[in-house]
Amino acid sequence: MKALQYRSIGSAPEVVVVPDPEPGPGQVLLKVTAAGVCHSDIAVMSWPAEGFPYELPLTLGHEGVGTVAALGAGVTGVREGDAVAVYGPWGCGSCAKCAEGKENYCLRADELGIRPPGLGAPGSMAEYLLVDDPRHLVPLDGLDPAAAVSLTDAGLTPYHAIKRSLPKLVPGSTAVVIGTGGLGHVAIQLLRAMTPARVVALDVTEEKLRLAREVGAHETVLSDAQAAAKVRELTGGVGAEAVFDFVGAQPTLATAGAVAAVEGDITIVGIGGGTLPVGFGQLPFEVSVSAPYWGTRGELVEVLALARSGAVSVHTETFTLDEAPLAYERLHAGEINGRAVILP
Ligand code: NAD
Ligand code: ZN
Ligand code: ZN
Repeated sequence: MKALQYRSIGSAPEVVVVPDPEPGPGQVLLKVTAAGVCHSDIAVMSWPAEGFPYELPLTLGHEGVGTVAALGAGVTGVREGDAVAVYGPWGCGSCAKCAEGKENYCLRADELGIRPPGLGAPGSMAEYLLVDDPRHLVPLDGLDPAAAVSLTDAGLTPYHAIKRSLPKLVPGSTAVVIGTGGLGHVAIQLLRAMTPARVVALDVTEEKLRLAREVGAHETVLSDAQAAAKVRELTGGVGAEAVFDFVGAQPTLATAGAVAAVEGDITIVGIGGGTLPVGFGQLPFEVSVSAPYWGTRGELVEVLALARSGAVSVHTETFTLDEAPLAYERLHAGEINGRAVILP
C-alpha cells in the first residue's frame, strides 16, 4: 500500500510503498477514508536526531477515520464495514488513568512502549491503518469522514482544554483564542456552542481572522505587540477569564499572561517552545496555568455528538495521498486556512 512517511531526520515526508498490514490477535485493520494534517507533525519533523523519540521511517497521521476492513483473532464489538473514528492517544487500557478513559495520560504507556498512530506507531496517512484494540474506535454514525477526521485531534484537544475552564466561562466572561488554525478555529466554535462567553480571536493574518469571524469569534485582533492592550481594552480592563494559546511561542505566551484576568485560566496547547513565568507578581493573582495533552475517549464521543448536532464543523482543504507532502509544505508556510485533510 501507499503511505506517507517521515524517513530521515530533517527530510521532507515522502509517499512510498510499504507492505499491507495484517491484523494480529485483538487488532482491527481499517481502510483509511481520511487523515488529518496537524502542526505537531511539523514540530516532530523539526526535532534533532539526538533524543528523537520515534523509530524511522514513521508513517505520519494521528488523526484518522476509516472503515473496518478486517478483524484480528478474538476481536468483538466491531464489524467489517463499520465507519469509525480513531481515538489516538492509546494507553495500556487498565491503569488508573486509562480506567477513567484518560488514555492520553496513561501511567504505563512509556514503560510499555505504547505510542499513538503517527506519533511512534504507523499512522493514518496510508491506505490501511492497524488499530491495536477496538476500544480505540468510536462510531462515526453518519458523520462524513473528511469533515469528521480532524475532530479526533483538532476537535478533541480544544474540547478537553475548554472543559477545564467551563466554570469560569459564565455570562459576561471573555475567552481568548490565540492562533485560529486547525485547532483554534474549532476552539472558537466549541466556545460558542458550550459557553456564553464573548470570544476574542488572535492570529497573524487578516485571512485567518476572517475565518475566525466566520466560525463565530465576536472580536478579532491581529496578534502583535499591541494585541494585549487591545484585548484588555475590549474587556474594560478586566482581562479574559480563559486564554487558550494554540501557538505556545514566546510572544503569544507573553500576550496570554498579559490578557488573563485575576483568577483566570491560561491553557497552553501549542508546542511553540515558549515559557511563561509563574512566580508571585508575574501574573494576575490566582491565575491557573495548564499545558494539557489531547483528550479523553469519552470527550471524543462528546465532540462527535456535537458535530452531529451541527454545532461544530471543520473548515477543510482536501488533498490526495500523493499530494500529502504539498499539504505539509503549505501548512508550514501558514497557507492552510482551517485543516488540511488527506483522502487516501
Ligand atoms: P495550525 O498551523 O493549523 O494553526 C496555528 C495558527 O497559529 C495559524 O493560524 C497561525 O497563523 C497562527 N499563529 C502563528 N503565529 C502566531 C502568533 N504569533 N500569534 C497568533 N497566531 C499565530 O496548527 P494546529 O495544527 O492548529 O496546531 C496548533 C498548535 O497546537 C501546534 O503547536 C501543535 O503542535 C499543537 N498541538 C498540541 C496538542 C496538544 O495535545 N497539546 C494537540 C494538537 C496540536
Ligand atoms: Zn495533532
Ligand atoms: Zn494506562
